[in-house]
This record gives sequence, structure tokens and C-alpha cells, in this order.
Amino acid sequence: MCYVLNVADKKLVAIKYQNVKVILNMKGVKKQNLPEKICIQCGRPFSWRKKWERCWEEVKYCSEACKKKPS
Ligand SMILES: [Zn+2]
Repeated sequence: MCYVLNVADKKLVAIKYQNVKVILNMKGVKKQNLPEKICIQCGRPFSWRKKWERCWEEVKYCSEACKKKPS
């Protein structure tokens, strides 16, 4: 069983596992579940970032440096 509690401004996830209630901060949990892509410039994997939430489908480079580099 998993449910989300909103405590003040911090988004916390409370997970009940074998009768033990565990409170996790979304910051610590989210990263592992983020989608990943491979940068077409440097070939390294990079994960989803907040700034790409509207254009993730079109993101091809891991950073501005890779974007500016001529291929
Ligand atoms: Zn790159």
C-alpha cells in the first residue's frame, strides 16, 4: 500500500510495508524512476529534468555544451 501525503510544502510519500510505515522524501525516491535517454553527442545516459517536462520527447542532448558542439 502506498499513498502520498502533503505535509506543508514538502511532498512526502508514506509507504506501508509489512506493517511498518516508512516516510520517504520524493527527492530521494524520484530519481531512480526518472526516464533516461542517451545523448546523441557524447553517448552518455542522462535523466529527465524538470526543465524538460514539456519537451522531453524532443530532447537529444545531455547538456547545452553537447547541443552547441558541431557533430
Ligand atoms: Zn552529451
